[in-house]
Amino acid sequence: MQLITGTTKLLGVIGHPVEHSLSPVMHNAAIAQLRLDYVYLPFPVKPEDLQVALAGFAALGVVGLSVTIPHKQAIIPFLSEVTEIAQAVGAVNTVWRTGNGWSGTNTDVEGFLAPLRRTTRDWSQTVAVILGCGGAARAVVAGCAQLGCASIHVVGRDTQKLRAFQHSWEHSPVAVKIETHGWEELSPLMSQATLLVNTTPVGMSPQVEVSPLNAELMEKLPAGAIAYDLIYTPNPTQFLKLAKEQGAVSIDGLEMLVQQGAAALKIWLQLGEVPVDTMFQSLQHHLWGARARD
Ligand code: NAP
Repeated sequence: MQLITGTTKLLGVIGHPVEHSLSPVMHNAAIAQLRLDYVYLPFPVKPEDLQVALAGFAALGVVGLSVTIPHKQAIIPFLSEVTEIAQAVGAVNTVWRTGNGWSGTNTDVEGFLAPLRRTTRDWSQTVAVILGCGGAARAVVAGCAQLGCASIHVVGRDTQKLRAFQHSWEHSPVAVKIETHGWEELSPLMSQATLLVNTTPVGMSPQVEVSPLNAELMEKLPAGAIAYDLIYTPNPTQFLKLAKEQGAVSIDGLEMLVQQGAAALKIWLQLGEVPVDTMFQSLQHHLWGARARD
């Protein structure tokens, strides 16, 4: 446990609920490794208290905050500045205090892209198929657009939500062309998918035996495709197990979680580098203890 003194500066996460957030574990591990006089705390903030809480955090001199459900969109009107990427995603997950109020951005896109940027691919030939059209899918679409994917297909189960999702990108500050599909159209898409991303919660603990798509559909995935599951528990998910059986390159959601946090920490601490490995290991230890991952 680090020493908290009269000079210790505050960081934290706001959400409702916030008890299950993994952010305090990884951020405090990084702070300890860097030997900095900061502490990162969980702050449960009810939706109706968001504005007054932000004013209070500013009065207390809080340096920066992670923002999680249900505040990611609701916080935007209370910010003096919102980055273009956060405007495109339509959600803020990181804020920091400036002389002019709170500024906000979205580091999920950077987190999503980090493991992909290490793989050698011709992204201009990549067909991205994204399962789900909720909040996380927005960061994934923005990430695929940054990569320059040849086409971006979003698969959802609710026609109205799909239409609204598509419409939102037509009016986004980051121009992105996407095609939307119902689940019944997934079968022909699978044989083209060279980047398949699960952004649905299907397969997340405790429903560890289910997968958003079955083995029959997964068999259509081209050899060498990337299968990316945003879920980080269990590890691997049933989705990634099926993909691996097809020879796909699999990526789980833990690195995205760590890298979006690392990107936020760099902003708050104004550092070029933060100890990503320490953050990663702290979460692995917290989630799985000494047990090696499957
Ligand atoms: P969300 O906004 O609720 O969106 C979930 C999406 O999945 C929606 O499109 C939803 O469709 C769809 N869906 C849910 N159940 C489904 C089912 N049984 N069959 C088909 N589609 C289904 O949630 P989110 O914030 O995007 O998060 C999604 C997942 O990503 C969660 O597991 C979360 O933990 C994970 N995540 C991970 C990271 C990371 O850093 N690794 C970051 C963000 C999120 P409807 O709208 O029709 O219900």
